[in-house]
Amino acid sequence: MKVLITGGAGFIGSHLAEEILQQGMEVYVIDDLSTGAIQNIQHLKENERFHYVIDDIRNRSVLGEMIDLCPVVYHLAAAVGVHLILDSPTNTIENNVFGTELVLKLAAKKRKKVIISSTSEVYGKSEKMPCAETDNILIGAPNNIRWSYACSKAIDEFLALAYYKEMRLPVVVARLFNTVGPRQTGRYGMVIPRFIKQALRGERICVYGDGKQSRCFCYVKDTVTALIGLMECEKAAGEVFNVGSTEEVTIAELAQKVKTLTGSSSEIVYVPYDEAYEQGFEDMRRRVPDITKIKKLIGFKPSYSLDDALRLTIEFLKENLDEY
Ligand code: UDP
Repeated sequence: MKVLITGGAGFIGSHLAEEILQQGMEVYVIDDLSTGAIQNIQHLKENERFHYVIDDIRNRSVLGEMIDLCPVVYHLAAAVGVHLILDSPTNTIENNVFGTELVLKLAAKKRKKVIISSTSEVYGKSEKMPCAETDNILIGAPNNIRWSYACSKAIDEFLALAYYKEMRLPVVVARLFNTVGPRQTGRYGMVIPRFIKQALRGERICVYGDGKQSRCFCYVKDTVTALIGLMECEKAAGEVFNVGSTEEVTIAELAQKVKTLTGSSSEIVYVPYDEAYEQGFEDMRRRVPDITKIKKLIGFKPSYSLDDALRLTIEFLKENLDEY
């Protein structure tokens, strides 16, 4: 079985590639290394069942050839990270919308099975928690550029479901909540690698806002289990699924946990949002997934606790502090 992973040199994509190779399948990756990195797949290169192309997914002929080869496609290539989105919104929108459009169009020609990775960002500033797949979404005004990411991924979802409805393309939307683990970089905003690196370097651990906002972090290996489970389940086609952990933590508590688990003497400081991001930045207070739907269909339940995830990520970053 040949499997295509767009964004396979990214944080989640590289773990997915690793697991699929371990299951004995053949993996094809296309990645432009914009937020992914060659070091993420270095250890896979020796495997003769691993193939990769460094290119933009919007390169139609290359993507088309790869999709033709593979009966299943995990579409993970996307612009991610709050800092990146604020810095380059044009590329975020174009990459997410046109990239996904092309994946769906080419997959539909040969009825390939596709998983489109989406994000909990699509819930926007909805305050109804936990959020379920059929809940309304509440995306902020377009003059606040952070919402371009949520909107671009919401369009990806609409398009995927439209292909299912009109062309019966077997496509599944996986709405990924905060994910964490080795090989995640803090460069584009992700809080856990940032906190861990600050703690390991003895620098100040910078909590944005009042630290009372909360998130649920899912360990990447659990996320990969969920993605593979959805791909293997026929009944998942045409549906949207939340994928994440339900163990909620405030960002202030998280900073303290990181400090304790690393044994760091770093000071925890609070940085106003306007300084951390830009004037008028809006943060979500809470983001908790309702995972009833995926649990019912494929029995998915996270098996790593937040402490497990933090320990494993700390171990990794201790060895790779400057690379990530
Ligand atoms: N955050 C923080 N310090 C950082 C980076 C992020 O306090 O160095 C906060 C951020 O404002 C948000 C939370 O941590 O409230 C999670 O941020 P991240 O960018 O990881 O994910 P998202 O906001 O997309 O859930």
